[in-house]
Amino acid sequence: MPLSRDAEHVLELLWIRQREKIQPPYLPQLEASFTNEAVRELKEAGLIRQANGELLLTDEGEKAAKLALRRRRLAERLLVDLLKTADSILDEAACSIEHALYEGLEEAVCTLLGHPRFCPHGGEIPPGKCCEEARKAGIRLIVPLSEMKPNEEGHIAYIQSADTIVMQKLMAMGVLPGEPIRLIRCFPSFVFEVHHTQYAVDTAVADCIYVRLKAD
Ligand SMILES: [Zn+2]
Ligand SMILES: [Zn+2]
Repeated sequence: MPLSRDAEHVLELLWIRQREKIQPPYLPQLEASFTNEAVRELKEAGLIRQANGELLLTDEGEKAAKLALRRRRLAERLLVDLLKTADSILDEAACSIEHALYEGLEEAVCTLLGHPRFCPHGGEIPPGKCCEEARKAGIRLIVPLSEMKPNEEGHIAYIQSADTIVMQKLMAMGVLPGEPIRLIRCFPSFVFEVHHTQYAVDTAVADCIYVRLKAD
């Protein structure tokens, strides 16, 4: 039987609290799901256990938490990258979609998005089978600028950096999601072009710019 929304939220919450350093803005939304019923449901399903007064994920619980978080973060990427959803409604919209991404659909969305590695808040998206297969097959849909070859072009899919200064600098330069981009050279620094203006950045910055490659 599929888990209730609240139960999935509690799994996500426990995983984020126990495993991650980020504080996503939707934590209160997840915390609101921390009900006695949700906890009972998860205990009965063998996904959480109590130890020294603390609720911990079991091994099965960790797997389920990762899957729930994967769906949530894919939903966020879908909303931000493809649907250009405004921040003000992102959390609610992501919640409506995450629980609908059942098996199969979740992989289709992941593939459509180019197997993204991070959510818009900088949290890691646990990889699925599709991500591994794409990596093995050498399928490149969205790659960091640092992995592009000279003369390759595409559109900026998203900018991913924990460093807000880097993010702001790129945005101020007009290096924004949706803009066309072409890599000119990758040595000694990464030189690229956006709307006939050339920019040079180092590898650390080139790692942050994810490009949806033009299909050839
Ligand atoms: Zn939700
Ligand atoms: Zn994938």
